[in-house]
Amino acid sequence: MNLELVRSRLEALGLTEAAARLDTRAEQAAKADWSYTEFLHRLLEEELAERQRRSLETRTRLARLPRQKTLDNFDFAAQPGVDQRLIRELAALGFVDRGDNVCFLGPPGVGKSHLACSLALRALEEGHTAYFTTLDRLILDLQRAEANQTLQRRFRVYLKPRVLVLDEIGYLPLDRAAGNLFFQLISRRYEHGGSILLTSNKSYGEWATFLGDDALAAAILDRLLHHAITINIRGESYRLRDRRRAGLEPPPAKTG
Ligand code: ADP
Ligand code: MG
Repeated sequence: MNLELVRSRLEALGLTEAAARLDTRAEQAAKADWSYTEFLHRLLEEELAERQRRSLETRTRLARLPRQKTLDNFDFAAQPGVDQRLIRELAALGFVDRGDNVCFLGPPGVGKSHLACSLALRALEEGHTAYFTTLDRLILDLQRAEANQTLQRRFRVYLKPRVLVLDEIGYLPLDRAAGNLFFQLISRRYEHGGSILLTSNKSYGEWATFLGDDALAAAILDRLLHHAITINIRGESYRLRDRRRAGLEPPPAKTG
């Protein structure tokens, strides 16, 4: 049998990794006396592994997550306000399968974005799609699309991924038009059923203030929280803690 012909057929079928390894594996098979099934199995496993590696690479690139926010480099000891068991359970991704949302609330620097991104990374590892954006960037992007009459098409970027990270809700006040775009996104993802990983420095009670509208805040929260877990993180900023350890910041003021 002509190996060259087999290789060209594998390539025609898009089995490029198997095609590339055919020669070596055929030689090995002959030497080690592999069965036909074993030979085929090894070649297919290698094809599959390479496809999964490429798929992860592509999905990771498209997700635009900030780098190095993994669960492994989250220091749970430094943040006793975070329930490590709950985070480990979330990392098993049942919430993604159910399409539930996870909201991290708390002051700046306590690890909200880090945890949200690390869960999105887990979702990528398990074969899901994800996308990261901040609320500001989302609004700017949708407003630009609206001006170009491409809003509906643009929405797909935020509706398609299985997991959407919406970072930094509430840092800046939103005007009515922006608030309405935010509502549309939440409402449409609610209908589509994909998970949102959200971070905010504002408690839900304060959302009406940065949205400037009680009814809009209620409508957004109603949908967002229908199937959601909220994780309130208290405690001190990790950045400040580091700076303090380096002697750059005074110790926290004693209260009470
Ligand atoms: P937040 O979103 O709550 O403002 P971040 O998640 O951005 O805070 O955390 C601020 C910085 O400190 C980031 O670089 C983050 O990776 C790091 N960080 C925060 N908490 C921890 C932690 N417990 N372990 C390791 N790094 C942390
Ligand atoms: Mg953050």
